[in-house]
Amino acid sequence: MPPVPDRFGRPLRNLRLSVTDRCNLRCQYCMPEEEYVWLPKSNVLTFEETMRLVDIFVTLGVDKVRLTGGEPLLRAELPVLVRMLAQRPALRDLAMTSNGVLLREHARALREAGLHRLTVSLDTLDAETFKMLSRRPDHHRVLDGIQAAREAGFEELKIDTVVIAGVNDGELAALLGYARSVGAELRFIEYMDVGGATHWRLDRVVSRARMLELLAASHGPITELPRTDSAPAERFRLGDGTTFGIISSVTQPFCATCDRARLTADGMWYTCLYATTGTDLRALLRGGASDAVIRQTILDVWTGRTDRGAEERAAMPLRMPMAPVSTLRQDPHLEMHTRGG
Ligand code: SAM
Ligand code: SF4
Ligand code: SF4
Repeated sequence: MPPVPDRFGRPLRNLRLSVTDRCNLRCQYCMPEEEYVWLPKSNVLTFEETMRLVDIFVTLGVDKVRLTGGEPLLRAELPVLVRMLAQRPALRDLAMTSNGVLLREHARALREAGLHRLTVSLDTLDAETFKMLSRRPDHHRVLDGIQAAREAGFEELKIDTVVIAGVNDGELAALLGYARSVGAELRFIEYMDVGGATHWRLDRVVSRARMLELLAASHGPITELPRTDSAPAERFRLGDGTTFGIISSVTQPFCATCDRARLTADGMWYTCLYATTGTDLRALLRGGASDAVIRQTILDVWTGRTDRGAEERAAMPLRMPMAPVSTLRQDPHLEMHTRGG
């Protein structure tokens, strides 16, 4: 199937599947509250329902799936879903983003089920900073989880680090050294004003330019590497050969090449991280719609897509968090941990 272009010619290639909105951490930049309004369990799609949608998305050109959440490892029997996905040859890339806390327990089963690639989020090498940021004492488990991923044979390991001014911007060089030592590639992410980031402030964002300045000061000249696909990270190389990425969603948004869409655990489909409305695919599934009807619905939405959320936010004269806590409580689908990062 040739890829379906949206109104700006962007194909639908990349599906982020959130398998749960629950999380075992409370990262300040994502889930700053202790209590949340969770999706009702009965609304969460079964693996069969999820696969039916995935198979329809594949007919429209999706060839990359990333499992996310919330924390995807909190979803019971996740390797069963991974195995189902791995049996679809049209999915040339099957990845997962995890906070790593439960990886020691699950890495091997995920690998055996056929997961291709793993990204672990790690913002700091300091246990106290981790505790302050995530409000949980699990730093050692994340580091051990990364080790377990290596042992399980995940060779294309990535580590994602959200950089926040005054919190971990003094650790960039150390984090790069750590990533190199475990054979992973690090990607620094600019702190984004997504739903859930209610404490976001522009002066807490460490820009791509500032990160490069800090790294050049510690490592000397940095070479920018050519882009090879629509992945959000720009890649760079240090003089010693270490490569790393920067995802500069705030200061240099990349909406022009965005081929990503997100499906929440309860079957809402969003065509942008910042979209305030989505398409209720669960209602279609459970209402008895045929594959053809669901496919046409997705096709109509994608061909009409004009989203460029991060670019629009970058143009705002006074930039504030996307939504206050009260709005998020009314519509948890606006939350990053529900929508899937
Ligand atoms: N729980 C898993 C994890 O943390 O890896 C997967 C879901 S999490 C929402 C996916 C990614 O979104 C993580 O790498 C996280 O750091 C990132 N993220 C969450 N809030 C963010 C924010 N305000 N700015 C930038 N990245 C954010
Ligand atoms: Fe942190 Fe990921 Fe959980 Fe958000 S979903 S609180 S980023 S671990
Ligand atoms: Fe894609 Fe929306 Fe992110 Fe832009 S803001 S890159 S359109 S998801």
